[in-house]
Amino acid sequence: MTAIGSQLEAPLESVAWFERARAVTPGGVNSPVRAFNAVGGTPRFIRSASGAWLTDVDGREYVDLICSWGPMLLGHAHPEVHRQVAEAVTRGTTYGAPTTPEVELAEEIVARTPVDQVRFVSSGTEATMSAIRLARGFTGRDLVVKFAGCYHGHVDALLAAAGSGLVTLRDAASRGSSGQAFSVPGSSGVPDSATALTIVLPYNDREAVTTAFQEYGDRIAALITEAAPGNMGVVPPEPGFNAFLAATCTQYGALLVSDEVMTGFRVSRQGQWGLDGKVEGWRPDLMTFGKVMGGGFPAAAFGGRADVMAHLAPLGPVYQAGTLSGNPIATTAGLATLRLATEDVYQHLHQVADQIKGAAAEALDTAGVPHRIQSAGTMFSVFFADHPVPDFEAAQAQDTAAFAAFFHAMLDRGVHLPPSAFEAWFVSAAHDDRAVQTVLDALPAAASAAAQVQKGTR
Ligand SMILES: *Cc1c(COP(=O)(O)O)cnc(C)c1O
Repeated sequence: MTAIGSQLEAPLESVAWFERARAVTPGGVNSPVRAFNAVGGTPRFIRSASGAWLTDVDGREYVDLICSWGPMLLGHAHPEVHRQVAEAVTRGTTYGAPTTPEVELAEEIVARTPVDQVRFVSSGTEATMSAIRLARGFTGRDLVVKFAGCYHGHVDALLAAAGSGLVTLRDAASRGSSGQAFSVPGSSGVPDSATALTIVLPYNDREAVTTAFQEYGDRIAALITEAAPGNMGVVPPEPGFNAFLAATCTQYGALLVSDEVMTGFRVSRQGQWGLDGKVEGWRPDLMTFGKVMGGGFPAAAFGGRADVMAHLAPLGPVYQAGTLSGNPIATTAGLATLRLATEDVYQHLHQVADQIKGAAAEALDTAGVPHRIQSAGTMFSVFFADHPVPDFEAAQAQDTAAFAAFFHAMLDRGVHLPPSAFEAWFVSAAHDDRAVQTVLDALPAAASAAAQVQKGTR
């Protein structure tokens, strides 16, 4: 695909590295969305980053609106985080024995969130996988409920999401009595048996939740939800929706697993729970964290009620372990990041997000491109659609071709957006006036590029 309105030559070094990468790695990337499949073109190979800026192997600079898909809350190469990490590395990098930064990071997470205890792992995927196992072990039940469009990592049982959830539920209800599959895997390589115990529902749909629990309530171990979904674009919970989920789970003796891998320590100091549960007076039974809490290193966690966590090995019968879990370098980086993530940081993120949202809306309005901007705390995304987006079905009904043109026009003007219309845009404490102005300056031309595509297809 050629970028509309492209003002730049091809990024020759990135093109060359992408070719080398594709020879030795499937698709040339180690996580699929980096490959630019949804927007076309060549992913930029990044040589270095500092603050709000990325530098690619061709020497071009970009304002980063991915922030490593969330973790870089303070911006890249934060001097104090780096100082502490560099110092920690001189003491060795992993011992396979307990360390003090693990305890301090756990204390910081317990202080900010409603969990009593946490267990560290190395990725968000491991966190949700372990939380589900723990919920099943604790309740002695087998079924798991999730929402279409919510992503919880590449756990077999949670890779069921595609298609209309209501149809999935009806389908499930009709087959459930004979003990057959509840939902269909969303990935090749996941056997039906792995998702057979997963019920998929449409997000923000209380009626579907009630129906599922009425039908299967005594078999449901857990309901897992993104605290505020950001993996289908940002689709905030309707007011009271998370409280309703908590109450429903309590009523049926199921555990609410609130996945805050993306929202945790990003949308507010206390994550999405700080915006709803804390105010409304409820808490999830289990929570999962990742991204920001690793400070740019592989660290994640799951945690929750002490009586539930007591079922984990070595105290209880639910097995879970990891060679690099709680790695001292990763926990040092996470701890430094959380300690520096003060109220001022979140206020700055809000301010920057508001500036970019306002300018994006204005540019798209001026160009006549239908759009919806949705937010959860400091996290937001732009849907190229003419309708509100309360769920996955609505998220899928957007103009992805217009987004691709918009994306490339932004990239050509030095703004590195997520290369998909179904992702959140992330800002950091290091996004200063110069970075924001670069984004604002790029928006009108990008909106025009999107408008041109829409005119061409109308
Ligand atoms: C990123 C993400 C995960 C998976 O985390 P990984 O570290 O990529 O395995 C799980 N849940 C949510 C909500 C996420 O955003």
